[in-house]
Parts: sequence; C-alpha cells; structure tokens
Amino acid sequence: MTTVAKNARLHIDWTRCDGRGLCAELLPKLLGRDDWGYPVVRDGAREPLIPREARTYARAAVNRCPRQALSLAASPPKAKRAR
Ligand code: SF4
Repeated sequence: MTTVAKNARLHIDWTRCDGRGLCAELLPKLLGRDDWGYPVVRDGAREPLIPREARTYARAAVNRCPRQALSLAASPPKAKRAR
C-alpha cells in the first residue's frame, strides 16, 4: 500500500461523488454526511488536511470510493512572509 504524505489533503471531486457515504464511514473525524448522504468536511476546509491517525483510512477511502471521486493532494507550499 502506498504511504500518504504527512501534508496530504483529501480532494473530493463533486462531479463524480454520488453520496454513498463510504468515505464518511472510514473518516468519521474528518467527514460527516449531509441529509442526502454526501460528505461534509467537518472543519469546513475545501481540501482538509489528513491527520496522521487517519492516513491509512484516507488511502482506503481513495481506493474504495465506488465513483473514484477521492484523491490525495499535496498541501500548497507555505506563502513567504512579506517584509
Ligand atoms: S465514497 Fe466516494 S462516492 Fe461515496 S460519498 Fe465518498 S466521495 Fe462520494
């Protein structure tokens, strides 16, 4: 199984997702479900950072999503501070 980078984020392709909710079951601390079963990111982030303890489950969710709607995205580089 491929490892998940420590700064990986979960990307959901909403054009593919059909709201079965498997991802929310695998990642309950990261995702809830709305009234129709679609995943809702609990912290409101567009691409939530995957906590260390959830990396294995995030990989499983990506691999098992029936619509191939999930992927892992690297965090954007930190912006440099203006002086
Ligand atoms: S497992 Fe995939 S299809 Fe199912 S709710 Fe999550 S993103 Fe959508």
